Amino acid sequence: MSKIDLKKEIRVIKDFPKKGVSFKDVTTILKSPKALKYTIDEMSDYIEDKKVDIIVGPEARGFLFGVPIATKLNLGFVPVRKPGKLPFQTHNVDYDLEYGTDKLEVHVDGIQKGQRIAVVDDLLATGGTALATSRLMEKVGGEVACLNFIIELTELEGRKKLNKYDIQSLVTYE
Ligand code: IMP
Repeated sequence: MSKIDLKKEIRVIKDFPKKGVSFKDVTTILKSPKALKYTIDEMSDYIEDKKVDIIVGPEARGFLFGVPIATKLNLGFVPVRKPGKLPFQTHNVDYDLEYGTDKLEVHVDGIQKGQRIAVVDDLLATGGTALATSRLMEKVGGEVACLNFIIELTELEGRKKLNKYDIQSLVTYE
C-alpha cells in the first residue's frame, strides 16, 4: 500500500458548527477512492492484529468507516445510536456533555458476552463519545480491544480519559 499524506485529504472548516471550532471534514476522504481505501486499509491492518470479533461504530460517521472495515476483516458491524433510533430493544448508557447529559444505545442482541470489540469513529476530541461507547460495550458483557480513529485532536486530551484502552489514530491535530 503506497503511503499518502492523509492530512491533505481532510478539509478543515473554520468556525463550524460555531465560532472558534475548526471542524475536520472527512467527506473529502470519502469522495476520494485513494484516500478512502488508504484509510480503511490502515485502520483494518491495526485492528486485524487485535483478535477482534466485531466492529462497533457510534453514529453517524462511525458507520461510514466501521462498515467497510468490518467487510474487509470479514467481521460483523454493530451500530451505537442516540436514543430512539434503534428499532429493537436496547441497552443504554448515560454520558456527560458540556451542558447536560445524553444517552447512547445498542440493541440487546448486538454484542455477545465475551466478544472482543473494535470501536471505530472518525474523530477523537474530548473522548466523551468513545468512553460512553466503551462503557456501554462493557455493560453488555463485551471487551473493548481497541479504539480506532482517523483523527485525534490532541489538545483536548481525550486519551487521558481513555487511558485504560488501546488507541489508534491515523493523524493528529493540536
Ligand atoms: P468527543 O466525544 O468530544 O471525543 O467528540 C467526538 C465525536 O464528535 C465523534 O463522534 C465525532 O464524529 C464528532 N466530532 C467532533 N468534532 C468533530 C470534527 O471536527 N469533525 C468531525 N467530527 C467531529
